[in-house]
Amino acid sequence: MSYTAPLKDMMFAIRHLAGIENIAQLPGFEDAGADTAQAVLEESARLNEGVIAPLNWEGDRQPSFLKDGKVTTTPGFQEAYRQYTQGGWQGLQHPADWGGQGLPKTIGAACVEMLNSANMSFALCPLLTDGAIEALLTAGSDSLKSTYLPRLVSGEWTGTMNLTEPQAGSDLSLVRTRAEPQADGSYRIFGTKIYITYGEHDLADNIVHLVLARVQGAPEGVKGISLFVCPKFLVNADGSLGQRNDVHCVSIEHKMGIKASPTAVLQYGDGIAGSVADQGGAGAVAYLVGEENRGLEYMFIMMNAARYAVGVQGIAISERAYQKAVVYAKDRVQSRPVDGSLPGSAAIIHHPDVRRMLMTMRAVTEGCRAMAAVAAAAYDAGHHHPDAAARRENQAFYEFLVPLVKGYSTEMSLEVTSLGVQVHGGMGFIEETGAAQYYRDAKILTIYEGTTAIQANDLVGRKTARDGGASARAIAGQVAATEAALLANGSAAALAVHRKLSAARLAFLDAVDFIVANTRAKPNAAFAGSVPYLMLAGNLVAGWQMARALLAAQQALAQGEDPAFMQAKVDTARFYAEHILSRAPGVRDAIVEGADSVTALALEAF
Ligand SMILES: Cc1cc2nc3c(=O)[nH]c(=O)nc-3n(C[C@H](O)[C@H](O)[C@H](O)COP(=O)(O)OP(=O)(O)OC[C@H]3O[C@@H](n4cnc5c(N)ncnc54)[C@H](O)[C@@H]3O)c2cc1C
Repeated sequence: MSYTAPLKDMMFAIRHLAGIENIAQLPGFEDAGADTAQAVLEESARLNEGVIAPLNWEGDRQPSFLKDGKVTTTPGFQEAYRQYTQGGWQGLQHPADWGGQGLPKTIGAACVEMLNSANMSFALCPLLTDGAIEALLTAGSDSLKSTYLPRLVSGEWTGTMNLTEPQAGSDLSLVRTRAEPQADGSYRIFGTKIYITYGEHDLADNIVHLVLARVQGAPEGVKGISLFVCPKFLVNADGSLGQRNDVHCVSIEHKMGIKASPTAVLQYGDGIAGSVADQGGAGAVAYLVGEENRGLEYMFIMMNAARYAVGVQGIAISERAYQKAVVYAKDRVQSRPVDGSLPGSAAIIHHPDVRRMLMTMRAVTEGCRAMAAVAAAAYDAGHHHPDAAARRENQAFYEFLVPLVKGYSTEMSLEVTSLGVQVHGGMGFIEETGAAQYYRDAKILTIYEGTTAIQANDLVGRKTARDGGASARAIAGQVAATEAALLANGSAAALAVHRKLSAARLAFLDAVDFIVANTRAKPNAAFAGSVPYLMLAGNLVAGWQMARALLAAQQALAQGEDPAFMQAKVDTARFYAEHILSRAPGVRDAIVEGADSVTALALEAF
């Protein structure tokens, strides 16, 4: 159950699709060219393959557990976390001003993928810390930044995101946790947060909770929610750790997957003995981030980063499942090949259907990776480009892609990890094999950081209908330019991809028209197709990147560069077009022609 980082494919995406040499032209990224990317990725691969991946199976067998208010993580996690932080990996993408390395997301995203392939449960701790760092960078005061950022960026302390409550999941307007202002400018927090990833653990000395709560008298709904920092241990003026805060873990969940990642119920302001509650009244001491009642707005900025990262988790788990399935398919001997190419039973990889499964796993993983790499490059340009108009354009493109990276990559990771089980036959269903763990682990990805439906609502409402479909059609225009390049290329593979890409683009444009026409006029019709629309858009963008990959690979082939890898890229891109992109017209029909049957059945008939 080893893991080998797909460095060649990552570098291909970074170089040929994301355009790392253009990123290296941007102010602040001068040293971040292809050589840097290669060196960083190799170093990341060493840690993830050698130290973190071997703990993945162990985490499933020996999950984190809670005893006497303390969470103990899987054996080996503490040492792995020490090596992760000592290597400076937590700060890879964060600003040098706060101790980070300030590398572009284009490089950082590949390292995030490796960490998650190696061990998704482990990776969640750094992922949530990244979220807390983003929140503080977005809206934290100078004092909050200087108190918390250096230690979060180094990984000495970890972060959490506390949004969910028993009655407030997808709908955060229902958040009830309350914050009471204090005379000294701080607040006291009271309430219960559920499902808090790494809400309690033994990997670091302090845990910095980012908490959504309502200040007394705040307006109802989303306009009355504020964001707070609430550390597990208060921080003294000299930076040392002070009193235990009145926030504690009352239980951790028993889960279907990512078992090693502790998912905590946190109680704020319950009067825990020995904490601040013993002095100066009850409540967990907290500090406002930014302004009152703007919490959700800040959270949305950081949620884009977290949603992108969850999409990368989908790619990561798909890659791991694919690698395992390939090894098994080469080893398991069963049945004579249908073409009679071997006299007796052969390794199952000789059967066309097994090849179809492996190719689906491979093509989807590469397509989603390519989409994520291009989105990361847009993010980098959106933040670092010297020209304001170029920054705006790139940021808009990135924001359109975030729900696709999150929604499409994670939904497809379920198909990929399910195929991973299928390739193993009965052995796939047996836990000892390990394929089932990837399938179970993948399921959470379509749920947390906003379910797929919530991503689709974002895509339909904010990203498509709001500008009358302009961003969506602009992307279709870029796809059409790639189609023209495929035609000009003229090879059989390019022409085959051209046909499918063109059909998928037209299907997408029909869906865009339908969504724009109906979001206000017939919302049930538009939203009946919201998730299919997300899947269609994700499929198109991933397929478009695979088409670009085909063109780049053919060019490299013509120059004699790495023929085996480049030919495999051409073959995989063609497979993507013929087997995955070809689903697009059917999805278009479901959206445009099938909306009514979604809601036709009377409620009483269910
Ligand atoms: C393992 C794990 C870790 C988590 N980590 C964290 C964490 O660190 N911090 C945190 O704050 N939360 C965390 N969560 C919570 C997670 O983000 C929520 O579970 C998720 O947002 C869904 O909310 P819910 O469970 O209340 O489901 P609900 O909101 O009740 O959704 C149920 C179903 O209804 C659908 N639905 C709801 N509203 C709509 C709508 N408007 N349109 C269409 N469909 C809709 C959903 O798509 C879903 O299919 C975690 C959850 C789990 C299981």
